[in-house]
Amino acid sequence: MRCAILSDIHANLVAFQTVLEDMETRGGFDEIWCLGDIVGYGPEPHACIKLLQQYKNVSVAGNHDYAAIGRIDISSLNTDAAIACRWTARQLTSEDVDYLQSLAVKLTQGNFTLVHGSPRQPLRQYLISAVDANDNFSYFDTKFCLVGHSHVPLVFRQDKNGNCFAAGIPDTMQLEQEDHRLIVNPGGVGQPRDGDSRASYALYDSDAQVVHHYRVGYDIGATQKRMMECGLPVSLGLRLNYGC
Ligand code: ZN
Repeated sequence: MRCAILSDIHANLVAFQTVLEDMETRGGFDEIWCLGDIVGYGPEPHACIKLLQQYKNVSVAGNHDYAAIGRIDISSLNTDAAIACRWTARQLTSEDVDYLQSLAVKLTQGNFTLVHGSPRQPLRQYLISAVDANDNFSYFDTKFCLVGHSHVPLVFRQDKNGNCFAAGIPDTMQLEQEDHRLIVNPGGVGQPRDGDSRASYALYDSDAQVVHHYRVGYDIGATQKRMMECGLPVSLGLRLNYGC
């Protein structure tokens, strides 16, 4: 089976569609594992939920998903994110709200645990450093964990002595050769923050036991134009140029 590992789509429909097309050129996929923040920041929350639902998918909730339906306090978001969140809430249909409401914060798929932020704090914690990642290995039981939230593609490895190391995600990871437990972040589809403006995602091939990491450029201007039309904060559009 081939699983698309997508995180932080953030209502960026153009980026989402481009990633789906890119995967088709690479042999396609059977289902999507979505690590949350389907909505928030971007201009097409309803369309992104609808598009995700067209595919077999396993999805966890992100903080923006829950904030948009009032399930977590909007005060946890920065000013621009909160403006976008209130706007997002007005775009959602009752079916969209029910769907976001139905998302769990932690799921297990075979050898993988799926969360948005971290296993310890699924809706809150950003895993950027090895120090922060290290104690999280005791909060999941599977060999591998998939996270999003930081929008930065990273791999954290914990060795048998309990030491944790952070590194950029390689283009290809052979999981059978891994004697370490891993926490993997595929990066963000709709709002990358590692200084590279291209959409970032991963693809897990369960037969080959390989995770591939891909980047794909998309029409940022088209998303920015939609954001302007929707009256979303200008800074949220500009940051897409810089991947920050
Ligand atoms: Zn996010």
